[in-house]
Amino acid sequence: DPIQENSVRTVQDCIFSVAYPTPFKSRVLLVAVSKDVLENILDFDASIKETDDFLQFVSGGKVVLGSIPLAHRYGGNQFGNWAGQLGDGRAHLIGVYTNRFGERWELHLKGSGKTPYSRNGDGRAVLRSSVREFLCSEAMHYLGIPTSRAASLVVSDDDVWRDQFYNGSVKKERGAVVLRVAKSWFRIGSLEILAHSRELELQRTLLDFIIQEHFPSINMNDSNRYLDFFSKVVVETANLIALWMSVGFAHGVCNTDNFSLLSITIDYGPFGFMESYDPNFVPNTSDDERRYKIGNQAKVGMFNLNKLLQSLQPLLGPRQRQLASQILEGYSEHYYTHFTELFRAKLGLLGKSEDDNYLIAFLLRLMEDTKADFTMTFRQLSEITQNQLKELHIPQEFWALRDLAKHKSFLDWVTIYLLRLERNMGDSETKRRKRMTAINPRYVLRNWMAESAVRKAEMNDFSEVHFLQQVLQHPFQKQAAAEKSGYSHRPPAWAKDLKISCSS
Ligand code: AMP
Ligand code: MG
Ligand code: MG
Repeated sequence: DPIQENSVRTVQDCIFSVAYPTPFKSRVLLVAVSKDVLENILDFDASIKETDDFLQFVSGGKVVLGSIPLAHRYGGNQFGNWAGQLGDGRAHLIGVYTNRFGERWELHLKGSGKTPYSRNGDGRAVLRSSVREFLCSEAMHYLGIPTSRAASLVVSDDDVWRDQFYNGSVKKERGAVVLRVAKSWFRIGSLEILAHSRELELQRTLLDFIIQEHFPSINMNDSNRYLDFFSKVVVETANLIALWMSVGFAHGVCNTDNFSLLSITIDYGPFGFMESYDPNFVPNTSDDERRYKIGNQAKVGMFNLNKLLQSLQPLLGPRQRQLASQILEGYSEHYYTHFTELFRAKLGLLGKSEDDNYLIAFLLRLMEDTKADFTMTFRQLSEITQNQLKELHIPQEFWALRDLAKHKSFLDWVTIYLLRLERNMGDSETKRRKRMTAINPRYVLRNWMAESAVRKAEMNDFSEVHFLQQVLQHPFQKQAAAEKSGYSHRPPAWAKDLKISCSS
């Protein structure tokens, strides 16, 4: 479609529309960059950030020569219902870059203006949500969780109006842009929209492209390639959600348009890291039905994969459809197997024992009853000695474990746990603690931490953004400055009243 038109409309027969970013009218400021993304993904020297060209490039001010920016047409199931055409309403794909390692990365601006898919939106993103996306996507990467990355964050002086809590109080905020990179931005909704509008040839073309580019182990000449593709997405989605659970991450808006076909975490909105362990934790204050509470994520994954399967149906033969249903049925088992593996490792267990599931579930139950901090319970189990546990001598600094120890069944759990640790073959106390501290983070991006960075950033003080960025690059390493800031302590009292909404 060579027509360059940003008018909002229903679009047919295409996967992308040409759409140019809208430059900000006012001054733009560079808030932060990820040196790692600039240098190791985009082959820049980080000093590029000092240049005006760079600022123009990452804020949507100027498009590089030869680039034809695109907005992607996709649909999605939002909160359980088919929502029709959605698409990149405020994001632009500004290029695909193959770096010195031969990796292909897609550069995506978010907050860069209207596209044909903006519906009622203004095409902008505010600083508050952009700081959160920038910090969290990078933090997730350093936690070892597949995710889109963030190269840069800029803020403008352009006014953007938001009713943050949908209560009629509209506030003036500032427009910001994040340059995000991912191997691919295709989502379940990318295929769904083509199935819904019966554009089967186009759907086949897109699917073949995705398989060819991103699933090298699948043979393009195999008539079962769509089945193989589905099977891989099922497994990797299960893996991703198990990983989210292993760090207490709730995505917040698990709609099919926010579920990547490459099973990476995308679209950071009202996400949250759970503090007190609670399966009913909902990060998004506007999610009234609590559909996307943390304990529902695995189930929602199944729902989303089922929607993917529905959209693949027209491309499958009768026998393949049967097999695809069986593949989907395997999702739960795969999820639980991976979940168990991750939590076994979190507890320092080697090998497998039949009772491991019980041990894990027992601990989670104690945490739920005592409201013990999720992150720090695991971290402190990694730091405490077996002797201290055995003697129930829990020093003051292990505050999460002391909360846990208030449970009347704590001793029972500790007894089983210590017996199980004794069955670790060839293990030692030092090895166990080393293993556990390498996977149980001491620092995650708690809401109050993100909020402190946002509040300062809104006054053009970006020091907290930079500081958090530094700390969260090493989430498993105890850092003096982070300790001083209370990042491994109980959340401050004011954090209890924090609300996070979809408005962004
Ligand atoms: P999300 O809930 O962030 O996944 O967004 C759902 C859909 O709304 C996507 O199609 C977004 O591009 C679109 N959208 C969200 N905010 C805006 C905005 N301010 N302007 C235009 N489109 C938006
Ligand atoms: Mg989205
Ligand atoms: Mg979003």
